[in-house]
Amino acid sequence: MTLAPGSIIGIIGGGQLGKMLAVAAAQLGYRCHIFEPGEGPCAADVAAKFTRAEYDDVEALRRFADSVDVATYEFENVPAASLEAIAHKLRPGVASLQVGQDRGKEKEFIHGTGARVGAWARVDSEEDALAAERQLGAPLVLKTRRLGYDGKGQAWADRTGSVVHAWESIGREPAVAEAKVKFDCEFSVVLARGVDGTIATWDLPLNIHENGILRSSTVPAGDAVGRHRDEAIRVASRIAQDLGHVGVLTVEFFATADGAIVNEIAPRVHNSGHWTIEGAVTSQFEQHIRAICGLELGSTDAVGASATMENLLGDEIDDWPRLIAEPDTHVHVYGKGEPRPGRKMGHVTRLQRAC
Ligand code: AMP
Repeated sequence: MTLAPGSIIGIIGGGQLGKMLAVAAAQLGYRCHIFEPGEGPCAADVAAKFTRAEYDDVEALRRFADSVDVATYEFENVPAASLEAIAHKLRPGVASLQVGQDRGKEKEFIHGTGARVGAWARVDSEEDALAAERQLGAPLVLKTRRLGYDGKGQAWADRTGSVVHAWESIGREPAVAEAKVKFDCEFSVVLARGVDGTIATWDLPLNIHENGILRSSTVPAGDAVGRHRDEAIRVASRIAQDLGHVGVLTVEFFATADGAIVNEIAPRVHNSGHWTIEGAVTSQFEQHIRAICGLELGSTDAVGASATMENLLGDEIDDWPRLIAEPDTHVHVYGKGEPRPGRKMGHVTRLQRAC
């Protein structure tokens, strides 16, 4: 099924990813309908229609699905059970969402594809936390299995004896414990998989995180990432295939002395792919729209010599008048309201032109 321009794309979630998806969809002649529980989501500013309802309101989701030609999601913390009700319209499918929203399932699934994850253990009780510390040693990090993002729901146990305290600080929620991975750097594979199974990947960005939040992504990433390129693309492609994924999928990696280790996956467009808006022939957002509408995928070639995307967190967004005056700098202001510390309010991409 190929959707013609004029068709309606439903987007579940109304944040900046939904906004950039809706802009890309509009360019191809589609109209978007945003579904989101919050008031005044920024994606609704650029969409034809907005439904405000809770993610577990199955009746509202059914009405929404009836009103669109295809539905997609821009974040993974929507209850999978609600989306089962609209599975016939959903791309990517519920399987991608289920794996992407539970860190325990995610690790088991990734391991099942033959890829490597770091040493980890499930933590559901104090006994589990102590057993994880004996098994993995310190330092280790505890992460809630569900609903964590941008470093939220995470706590480090830096020394032996502090694991129970760390688990308490994330609310004694069901968690995974991970040994600290000694990595040289972090990078991601952002790929798109079409309805026919074709896979397209962009250049692999080098990602710098601070306090668990992405700070910047740069391509080309250099040798520290380049030496893992083929293995990482093979791993990410296998994950996409095994999920039957349609659309953009992101796999985040640690580059270590003995190979690439998967950190986590996101069954969607991703912050480390924002550079593709100006830095590649087809952006991750357009590519996702192409994939879910059954169109051919576009070229993922880079258009410049290099690109660096930097997030504007919290009140860094106030710097926009200065940034907008810089040459070869593309400024994105998400229009999200309150600039709380660490909140992603916008980003800039600086391109170096090819000679
Ligand atoms: P995550 O939300 O799981 O992507 O974690 C956010 C960031 O915290 C990662 O990008 C790493 O910089 C750091 N981090 C998370 N887990 C580990 C780990 N097991 N070992 C070392 N660093 C980690």
